[in-house]
Amino acid sequence: MRYTTAMNAFLAALFLLQSPAEPTLAIEHVAVIPMDREVVLADQTVIVVDGRITTIGAAAEVAVPDGATRIDGRKRFLMPGLADMHVHVWDENDLYLFVANGVTTVRNMFGAPRHLDWRTRIEAGELIGPRIYTAGPIVDGEPAVWPGSIELTDPDDADGVAKEQKDAGYDFLKPYSRLTPDNYDALVAAGKKHGLPLMGHTPVALGLGDVIDAGQTSVEHLDGFSEAAQRGDSPFKTVDGRTDIPAWKTIDEARLAPIARAMRDAKVWNCPTLVVLQKWAQGDDAAALLARPEMRFVSPFIRAGWEPTSPMNYLAKLPASYVTAAHEALPFQQKAVRALRDAGAGIVAGTDMGNPFVIAGFALHEELAYLVGAGLTPYEALRAATADAARCMKAENDWGTIAVGRRADLVLLSANPLDDVTNAALRVGVVLHGRWLTEDTMRTELERRAAAFDEPR
Ligand SMILES: [Zn+2]
Repeated sequence: MRYTTAMNAFLAALFLLQSPAEPTLAIEHVAVIPMDREVVLADQTVIVVDGRITTIGAAAEVAVPDGATRIDGRKRFLMPGLADMHVHVWDENDLYLFVANGVTTVRNMFGAPRHLDWRTRIEAGELIGPRIYTAGPIVDGEPAVWPGSIELTDPDDADGVAKEQKDAGYDFLKPYSRLTPDNYDALVAAGKKHGLPLMGHTPVALGLGDVIDAGQTSVEHLDGFSEAAQRGDSPFKTVDGRTDIPAWKTIDEARLAPIARAMRDAKVWNCPTLVVLQKWAQGDDAAALLARPEMRFVSPFIRAGWEPTSPMNYLAKLPASYVTAAHEALPFQQKAVRALRDAGAGIVAGTDMGNPFVIAGFALHEELAYLVGAGLTPYEALRAATADAARCMKAENDWGTIAVGRRADLVLLSANPLDDVTNAALRVGVVLHGRWLTEDTMRTELERRAAAFDEPR
């Protein structure tokens, strides 16, 4: 009996050592964009062993280990894999879409047991997908905006909510719009106690200044900015979930800089998610978005929920004026992003993927372009999706840059993304935790999935 137990332990240890067994990679003669500073290191060779970067050096000086898979990096650029810092992924198919777009990390903003399960399978190499950080179920007030949220209505319950989410394995708390000040404060204290940062909305009953003062780790969607920056003669005296978007047009731009400085001083990260409002569409505009080529890769179940007539599509029920206001908000939101950038406040790139027409992976490249449109350089925009995303998660020694010891989540490109941020989509392949996936392999797999979706069932 004892022998069997020992033998099993031995075999289990052996299995752990060997799995996931990825071959050693050597990316040779490549231009490395490490993203810890704005630089391109010419003619480097990068060695990856067991999912980690073990060597970076001048190609002439690095010895390639026997048996390594050799990848020709000449005329190519190697950068860290991208992070989408605001996703709502519910469909397993979308995990592959992220990777096929160079997105090797996601921050999931409404967690459930399936996300913990995916994370385990991805880390074990059984499922191809990005590394997942996840909130637990959203913590809202009463009545919650979304079904499945936790309604925190008694400050005495906050400790239990945080403890439960910590014990379950979630990474952070997501405070939501209808929390009252008392319950919000209690959640902040509970998060501190249990080591869970708060990353989420600015509750309507609080101001942006309150969440900055509370030390909330990240503010999503520039929530609270339009209220905090209203002109003195604004028609919007207070702003709520119905008026926060129209109110962008009546901000006083001069009020953005002090907000941005307060954000910087309090070390609050911002995840603007500019792309999501630009996907607000109804009727013919929605039909046009559904006809875009990348829509073939979205599973029919998700696609059906985005049809202009679907009861699942919340956009279909909004007043048309609200949809117009969302599009008109963009230049004002971009001014807010510019103010954050000028103040040196933290910015991370996220999409709000999962909302209608915001497609896994593809949408992050659109977000990067909107960030550049706001006045960030390509380097700054890419940093928001790499090095700064890792800093936001306090994981800068683990991922987000190319350095010895970092996780080998990498994208190999055929053009320099620091010259033009759209070059970040010109992939030759992706290294996912040490696994080399060529662009051809990923395209073939996407087409296989699209064909399977089209088959009558
Ligand atoms: Zn969201």
